[in-house]
Amino acid sequence: SRRLSGRDERSPPSLASRSRPAHPASSDDGGSASILRFRRSARAWLAARRLSDALYALADAASAVEAGHPGSNIPAMDSNREVHQLSQALGRMTHRLLAAREAMEEKVRLRTLELEAANRALDLQARTDALTGLLNRRGFETQMAFALALARRSTRPLSLIAVDVDHFKRVNDTYGHETGDEVLRRLARTLETRLRGSDVIARLGGEEFVALLPDTDLEGARAIAQTLVTAMAQQQDPVVGTITVSAGVASMRGADDTGAAILRRGDIALYEAKGQGRNRVCV
Ligand code: GH3
Ligand code: MG
Ligand code: MG
Repeated sequence: SRRLSGRDERSPPSLASRSRPAHPASSDDGGSASILRFRRSARAWLAARRLSDALYALADAASAVEAGHPGSNIPAMDSNREVHQLSQALGRMTHRLLAAREAMEEKVRLRTLELEAANRALDLQARTDALTGLLNRRGFETQMAFALALARRSTRPLSLIAVDVDHFKRVNDTYGHETGDEVLRRLARTLETRLRGSDVIARLGGEEFVALLPDTDLEGARAIAQTLVTAMAQQQDPVVGTITVSAGVASMRGADDTGAAILRRGDIALYEAKGQGRNRVCV
């Protein structure tokens, strides 16, 4: 619109209107003087036109930068010294803007990566038991849901072993809480050593642990539970001596079975083992 409204003033002077003699009575001298005047004003018009074209081009480029396209080209203008300086200054400014924007984008990208890593760490922390490094109840529930879905789809068996330390209160009362913690860590390492990498081991709270065994039926799980109970009973701790555990085993029963129901049956079997004298496995 700026260009359109300016169009009239930017039209070249008309020869017809300008060549009308100023003094009709004068001779040929008056005619050549008016041609001279016309040439001068045409040159002035052309110079003004070049200058305004350059300024329009710079103004357009500056507007593009203002509108948030600092990649837009600032034309290199040299129609006169001031325009040249202006275009150089605009060019440098744009270059600096571009560099600053790139630096800012890089900063945002790094910050986003840091946040994502922090989120993953937080997520892991929320699913991990700080004392043993095993999964906590929350982490276990996620894995249980996953294992159940897989077992249902593949119609493969799924079993779990609930494990509880025998007379653990006595350990704490006799040797202190720190030693009790050490016993819990040792039990966690024993579970990890004795079970497969695909098994899911978690500390549900206190001195209660659970192992989830994919692709394992009730009999297989009972045998594994027995090796765990035996392994614990065979370990001699220099401070607390022998620590035994009891275990309850349960398996998925059909596609409608739930994680909570299997865990409940495992707990019932565990307390059966406690009732029968501890240091044993019940199914
Ligand atoms: P039972 O053979 O019937 O399982 O007897 P128990 O003494 O092992 O069971 P009880 O439930 O009576 O006691 C469990 C104890 O575990 C009580 C509690 O102070 C202790 N405990 C729970 N969490 C922790 C822990 O994180 N660290 C330690 N050191 N002790 C814990
Ligand atoms: Mg106990
Ligand atoms: Mg207990």
